[in-house]
Amino acid sequence: MSQKYEALRQRLSMIHDLNMANAVLSWDMETVMPPGGSAARAQQMSTLSRLSHELFTAAETGELLERAAAEMAGADYDSDEASLIRVVQQDYADATRLPVDFVAEFTKQTALAHPVWAKARAEQDFKQFQPALERLIDMARAAAGYIGYTDHPYDALLGQYERGMTTQQVADIFAAHRPALVELIAAISAAPQVDDRVLYAGYPIDGQRELGKRIVQAFGFDFDRGIQAISVHPFCTHFSINDVRITTRYSEQYVGESLFGFFHEAGHAMYEQGQAQHLEGLPLAGGTSLGVHESQSRLWENIVGRSREFWAWALPLFRAAFPAQTADITAEQMYRAVNKVERSFIRVEADEATYNLHIILRFEIEQAILKGDLRAADLPEAWNTRFQEFFGMTPPNDALGVLQDVHWSAGLMGYFPTYALGNMLSVQYYNAALRADPTIPQAIAAGNFEPLRTWMQTHIHQHGRKFTGAELTQRITGEGIQSRDYIHYLQTKYGDVYRL
Ligand code: ZN
Repeated sequence: MSQKYEALRQRLSMIHDLNMANAVLSWDMETVMPPGGSAARAQQMSTLSRLSHELFTAAETGELLERAAAEMAGADYDSDEASLIRVVQQDYADATRLPVDFVAEFTKQTALAHPVWAKARAEQDFKQFQPALERLIDMARAAAGYIGYTDHPYDALLGQYERGMTTQQVADIFAAHRPALVELIAAISAAPQVDDRVLYAGYPIDGQRELGKRIVQAFGFDFDRGIQAISVHPFCTHFSINDVRITTRYSEQYVGESLFGFFHEAGHAMYEQGQAQHLEGLPLAGGTSLGVHESQSRLWENIVGRSREFWAWALPLFRAAFPAQTADITAEQMYRAVNKVERSFIRVEADEATYNLHIILRFEIEQAILKGDLRAADLPEAWNTRFQEFFGMTPPNDALGVLQDVHWSAGLMGYFPTYALGNMLSVQYYNAALRADPTIPQAIAAGNFEPLRTWMQTHIHQHGRKFTGAELTQRITGEGIQSRDYIHYLQTKYGDVYRL
């Protein structure tokens, strides 16, 4: 009775298998592959990508989609069938807009640009990277043209990561909270500083690993359906709803590196593990957007992991693991130590209060680049001028400035805003959970994370990609994404930590 839909489902699930096989190769490459394997691995991964892309963008997929859509016309909007067709129609339109030759050339240029960027950053020399960046900027502008947009070329690129979101929306949200951020950071800078020396007391890595595992297991990360390994840059990947992988990076000097990285990636992983089992093997499984994904990682890393309630429960565990390092430390001191705010040059090291300013800076610069108002050659100066304006200091070199992020060398323009959107959504979703169950903080203080995780699973995780980020947010909170809740959260928390 639903033969056409079934035919579509089978084709999509075959393509999904290819993509997941590619993800296994990538995981292996990032975690255990010896350096000698890199050339062969690049070739293998490129073959699988090409096969998957060809199968997906083939006219046959388009025909199957059309027939299945006709067969399922009138199906309930929330049903798996209607959702799959709706989401894949959009995926198909997106994938077929970029010419195959262009995609191949873009992949090649980013592969070439990456080592050039890495060397330029190591040698603090922007000029080395400039020609490669110029080519990538031209290609990003061309990509925006192929994808299409009405108001701003940036819309086309942003939409790849946050479907349906416009540049104007992001600009409005950023403009609405930038003055409050600047004001809060200035007030914190003028206040007596927080003592966080306990985090730098020297922590053996085995102990960090055991403690991290113990905590994320309590959060709800399922080790029967997931594992944790070590990599240079922490990340989360999945091959199935029931096989989700995360990585951690350890530092003996600074325990916060692994601990909060662990919480962050576990948040991403619990989103993947929390999807409804009937979505397995379908392109509906997976996080719906980068912003929503980041909301889940930031929720566990910051809202939970940096809360007073969490440390009331976690300090005894921490003490048991590291008695010498934590002698005489109270839960209140830990709470303040992990919430230290510091203006710094590097985005990935930024705390909750300063983080979004780093993103707003990048968002303004990327828009100017795409519009053609800013040339590659002028980027270092544009960066430093804005940095001085936002943070009151100027990066001493380009490695601490315009060269710090990998994104542009990887061809990822329009990606940065999703980090800030994730911060804002994390608080909006948490507040919605609190309205439904005001006892969540008490449960956290008792080491019971079940009420919070279950709420997230019911309202966000189980749906996979059925609804866009905007649809989900509207359903959950009754309004769209906004910065009001985030600013209120920051002002309350840091007013308390810094006694403002
Ligand atoms: Zn993340």
